[in-house]
Amino acid sequence: MYRTVDVHNHYYPWDYLQHLVGRPGAVTAKQTGPHSYVMKCNDVIVAHIDRAGHYDMAARIVDLDKAGMDTQIMSKTVPGPELLERAEGVYWMKRINDAHAEAVQKYPHRLYAYAALAYQDVDESLKELERCIKDLKVRGIQMFSNVQGTPMHEPQFEPIFQMAAEHNLPILMHPTVPLTASILDKMKIPYQLYGYTFDTTMAVISLIFHGVFSRHKNLKVIHAHLGGMAPYLVRRLRDSWKGYSKEWGLELDEYPDDIYKRQVYPDTTSFYLPAMKCCLEWVGAEHMMIGTDYAHRVGDPEGAIKSILDLGDQAKLSRDQIDLILGKNAEKLFNLPPMPGKSS
Ligand SMILES: [Zn+2]
Repeated sequence: MYRTVDVHNHYYPWDYLQHLVGRPGAVTAKQTGPHSYVMKCNDVIVAHIDRAGHYDMAARIVDLDKAGMDTQIMSKTVPGPELLERAEGVYWMKRINDAHAEAVQKYPHRLYAYAALAYQDVDESLKELERCIKDLKVRGIQMFSNVQGTPMHEPQFEPIFQMAAEHNLPILMHPTVPLTASILDKMKIPYQLYGYTFDTTMAVISLIFHGVFSRHKNLKVIHAHLGGMAPYLVRRLRDSWKGYSKEWGLELDEYPDDIYKRQVYPDTTSFYLPAMKCCLEWVGAEHMMIGTDYAHRVGDPEGAIKSILDLGDQAKLSRDQIDLILGKNAEKLFNLPPMPGKSS
């Protein structure tokens, strides 16, 4: 089988986890068992740690070997440093990036990292991004779908998109505490269901609507969780644009769905074949990559690979198209060196 590359998975450095456990306030963590923790924001559980691979790299490699996953590009998950106080967030983004770099160095070809940034301080984030590029050799940038309620299309984030495009660093658009949190709290609908996927959908579509992709044609975004809701409402995306964009004061030279197809890459974190087929029909095999959400409770590295092989069967994909989704697209997009002993 072609080299398998997972572009959506998570790593909590041990020190960061311990910091959250001891932290008073709205963003905190609680240990619930020998290897289990819950992450809380405003008294709501936003993420779970159920297995050691979430923070222990040796345990992670055992899990990856078992699943047949060759390579992972790791990112932080919620709560990220952008949810902390400004100085605290700046301090922890650096510590997180150092921990990721250490793991990458220890497991060559197996692990790579996205830069973690403290988006509440863009100047410090830009400095850190330079360090991540020069010294830590990151392969991409992790972005959350909003920063403490501020949407990502706001002008203060423009230099980050510019730097990402200049350095060919794909951005993983990942959910955080969603903009819809307060109403979901009332409805008792877990954020993991629609809150997270809707939040990234709004984030990516607003970047398109406000011209971020048009200004930075080289910018590439990985849209977590099978593109959120975008692939299933694609006709509505174009029709709404045609019908209402003028009265909202929006202008683009192209249709928003064409921009999405050119510059956005949904990962396969869904594992539901009809949904994967729908996404595939729209964006094509050249625009999908493995996502697992490892080591979360919904994360499933074995299932992720199987679901792509099943998708290949059902959608009658060629061997090369399956290879693109398994790893070839990611190798190209993230400029990964070839892995010894693996076809690439
Ligand atoms: Zn995730």
